[in-house]
Amino acid sequence: MTEPQSTPTPQALLGATEIRRLAEEIGVRPTKTLGQNFVIDGNTIRRIVAAARVDPQETVLEVGPGLGSLTLGLLDAAAHVVAVEIDPVLAAKLPSTIADFRPEKAANLDVVLADAMRVTELPRVPTALVANLPYNVAVPVVLHLLERFPSLQHGLVMVQDEVADRMAAGPGSKTYGVPSVKAAWYSQMRKAGVIGMNVFWPAPKISSGLVGFTRHEPPVTRASREEVFAVIDAAFAQRRKTLRAALAGWAGSPAEAERCLREAGVDPSARGEVIDVAAFARIAEAKIPLTA
Ligand code: SAM
Repeated sequence: MTEPQSTPTPQALLGATEIRRLAEEIGVRPTKTLGQNFVIDGNTIRRIVAAARVDPQETVLEVGPGLGSLTLGLLDAAAHVVAVEIDPVLAAKLPSTIADFRPEKAANLDVVLADAMRVTELPRVPTALVANLPYNVAVPVVLHLLERFPSLQHGLVMVQDEVADRMAAGPGSKTYGVPSVKAAWYSQMRKAGVIGMNVFWPAPKISSGLVGFTRHEPPVTRASREEVFAVIDAAFAQRRKTLRAALAGWAGSPAEAERCLREAGVDPSARGEVIDVAAFARIAEAKIPLTA
């Protein structure tokens, strides 16, 4: 007679009771300034980890581990997690939470006390970024990390739903703007779902969205990333204007803007919201003298 197959018990994740207890233990009162909304639902964590498609060999960079909800899920899926947290009280508590809930994985975690918008060094080379990001700084954090750590090949972040739409938008969409074009410089972004408010403590007033990304090569151009980003900023600073008018200040005059646009193969009467990152790169390049 064969033994009945036992279903493996899913590893324990942090629920509302654990999160409140941990917060109370260290005297943390979640602050809006640091975007502290902690996930209290194991199914949401499993969903994020599954959508992130993390390979068991990977080192994952997590920004803002907070009380460790997502960190536990990531340690179950990846070889190593590097967690960058700005709040010293949360950063100090994290290793003991992991030691309590996943003693066998405790050695696979590095905690870095730092601002993710400024961090320049990590103890390991991460290949994936997976994070429930602090909402007020989500876009600058993603752009900084993609720029600073070229080893990041893919990832999944949870941000405000509206920001998720903007990051994943393509030319012509009404949500297409600076975050969409700058993100497209580094990667292909895709919307990967919507998350309700009740899976957080405290519950935010708005829904959250998941955005997945896969890195790709930036457009081939003689212009630097900074030069291309300057054109993007100028084009969207006055998004209702035609590119000829919006880029007049950047180019030096409307006529020079028109010359650069024509050379880049872009209609000067078009608006920034209809052109892609490769076109922005061609416009930036058109301003650089050929001898440069
Ligand atoms: N990952 C946890 C979770 O899912 O429950 C917490 C996510 S909470 C939305 C955002 C976390 O990011 C908080 O722990 C907060 O302290 C941290 N944080 C805020 N600003 C940060 C920054 N600039 N750099 C690193 N961490 C930051």
